Amino acid sequence: MTPRARPLVFGNWKMHMTASEAEAHVRSLLPRLASLSDRDVALAPPYTALWAVAALLRGSAVRLAAQDLFWEDEGPYTGEISGVMLQECGVTYVLVAHSERRRLLEETDRAAGLKVRAALRSGLRPILCVGEDEAERAAGRAASVVRSQLALALEGTARAEASRLQIAYEPVWAIGTGHAATAAQASEMHLLVRRELRVLFGDAASEVRILYGGSVTPQNVDELMATQGVDGVLVGGASLKVEEFARIAAFRALP
Ligand code: PEP
Repeated sequence: MTPRARPLVFGNWKMHMTASEAEAHVRSLLPRLASLSDRDVALAPPYTALWAVAALLRGSAVRLAAQDLFWEDEGPYTGEISGVMLQECGVTYVLVAHSERRRLLEETDRAAGLKVRAALRSGLRPILCVGEDEAERAAGRAASVVRSQLALALEGTARAEASRLQIAYEPVWAIGTGHAATAAQASEMHLLVRRELRVLFGDAASEVRILYGGSVTPQNVDELMATQGVDGVLVGGASLKVEEFARIAAFRALP
């Protein structure tokens, strides 16, 4: 049996918190995360709070993350932020193709691929988000949708870079709805993602962490983290509440 990857607990704040609110939040959260030495924890505030949060995280094991990046490093791309810029802020992880961006901003698999490669080129660790929506699941297409998202976005990513990649399986119907996937659904999809990664990257696929995202709470995190194939969690709504996120980060692996 392959040894379990070091778990990653990731907080995606979405478009919440000004820089000063983010500072107050992190000041309160950090002491509650201090004793978690056997897992990685990362926080993704909005761009405007990156510097403020970076200053507070300095010296702690908690990593700074961003919610998106552009695929070019510099140029006439009004409103965009590059991987190089994020790197300078102290960012380690960056989300790519979150379903809210796919749905609201029509972000494509091709854009996702360009962003994954830009993140790797800038020394960042991309977290590629994939997942089917409710209609696709109902039509029995969950597996084919996720396989296609992975293949299109990861085409052109070198095997040697796979160890810096993370995948987040986030069924769209579970995001922000309060209806998380069951352990059986998550396990089935995570094993499918792992198989697809093996096709793309061979043995290097075992180094890719696969996170589950979608209505993770203090009540369901222990079961999700005990689920076969789940290497971590991507937390949206609950990451905005100090006590809830601290409890999620302190998940206890069930026997
Ligand atoms: C997310 O932001 O990716 C997410 C999973 O949100 P929530 O935890 O609120 O469902």
